[in-house]
Amino acid sequence: MAEYDYDLFVIGAGSGGVRASRLAAMSGAKVAVAEEYRVGGTCVIRGCVPKKFMVYASEFAHHFKTAESYGWSKVESSFDWKTFIEAKDVEIARLSGIYVRNLHNAGVELLHGRATIKGPHTIEITGNDARTVTAKKILIAVGGRPSVPEEIPGIEHVITSDDAFQLDSLPKRIVIIGGGYIAVEFAGIFAGLGSEVTLVYRGANILRGFDDDVREHLAGELEKRGIRVILGCSPDKIEKTPTGLVAHLGNGILCEADQILYATGRKPHVDGLGLETVGVELNENGAVKVDDHSRTTAENIWAVGDVTDRINLTPVAIREGAAFAQTEFYNNPTSFDHDNVASAVFSQPPIGSVGLSEAEGRRKFGKVDIYRTVFRPMKYAFAGAEERCLMKLVVEAESQKVVGVHIVGPDAPEMIQLAAIAVKMGATKAQWDSACAVHPTAAEELVTMREKYVPQELGGA
Ligand code: FAD
Repeated sequence: MAEYDYDLFVIGAGSGGVRASRLAAMSGAKVAVAEEYRVGGTCVIRGCVPKKFMVYASEFAHHFKTAESYGWSKVESSFDWKTFIEAKDVEIARLSGIYVRNLHNAGVELLHGRATIKGPHTIEITGNDARTVTAKKILIAVGGRPSVPEEIPGIEHVITSDDAFQLDSLPKRIVIIGGGYIAVEFAGIFAGLGSEVTLVYRGANILRGFDDDVREHLAGELEKRGIRVILGCSPDKIEKTPTGLVAHLGNGILCEADQILYATGRKPHVDGLGLETVGVELNENGAVKVDDHSRTTAENIWAVGDVTDRINLTPVAIREGAAFAQTEFYNNPTSFDHDNVASAVFSQPPIGSVGLSEAEGRRKFGKVDIYRTVFRPMKYAFAGAEERCLMKLVVEAESQKVVGVHIVGPDAPEMIQLAAIAVKMGATKAQWDSACAVHPTAAEELVTMREKYVPQELGGA
């Protein structure tokens, strides 16, 4: 008789957990995964995928307006929130079903319920498939959840990104608190769908961690799209009134709205998981501490994805899960390289970014060459619109390697995927430029920037 019920028990059927459990099971191992909500996790159920559908839905208003300048008659249209939400839910259910089928086909046993670690090899599941099981190895892939500042009076009236996907109606006015990518994405979504949007962020500019030119450029573009951006303050209090909600900002401004969406960060979902009983340590941000092979401080327990707070993106969770399975079930020690992971922000206009920002480049290398262009995308120049596209290359001065690429403008997320290959390969600026332009495109600017950009404060024009 086997020593344990399973070779591997995975907690959480999201991006990381599903990939790890399928790969491990395909090696012949006996694997189970527990899921307390819906299979697919944040990405499929209340993250990347439904968010992108909302972005698509919200972009039509802009397209309709642009169409008129190309000779199309005025589009008289209206948006029906309920129709969209129902269609979105059908598609999400279909995708979640595919995940369930893929688990089944790989031979993974799916247990519906909440898992708690009771001992080094013991897991208790409560819920539909309640039972206690044992496993040789345990993988924690429980992800993160939205966090709101509980100390603010009236905070119980606000919503988070989880709720934004299920609202009964489209808010006429919405205040979004936060300056990260989720906040700016929802600002664009609601503005595109016709809500009056105010974005409030306590920092000096939105999108902390991104290149400063990108941050400034996007803030300007959001305002051109009618989004009110208030920086340098945050709410002291949320008040419920007969006509809606009011955010009382620290600087005395009152922002009235039908909904207030907090997008002020996410926390690893570790509460009540039983980590302390088995010696799984957390870092200062409350994330599970892991080494390069996703091994926690407890022998035979690993963790991947957002719960480890390394780079909180779906493809990263998937790669970490795959690397764990390769190492532990295929005798192929693998660790995921977290350098130069490209990312997109589906703001309107969107952002694509890979590698170092200009500031990071200067800190790391001392001297960097900057190539930068701001121009009107062809499609919108024709329409006489004010929208501008930004492209920027950060080049290490000595080696001439392109170490950062930053794009704000239409199709930036599609472009950055390919740019990431060149950055990952360590291509030099001369090698970028040796690729002939594709014309007429916006992307051709990436291989035709000849003049170094010198900021005004460093003596540039
Ligand atoms: P998750 O996908 O969160 O999965 C964890 C699963 O574990 C969940 O299903 C949860 O229900 C389950 N669980 C938790 N505790 C237990 C328990 N005790 N027992 C049983 N089950 C449990 N990333 C991108 O790459 N691109 C994007 O455009 C993007 N957009 C996003 C938009 C939003 C609004 C949000 C919130 C996130 C977005 N992300 C995006 C991030 C991405 O969703 C996450 O990085 C990714 O889902 C992390 O995967 P994971 O496997 O670590 O966790």
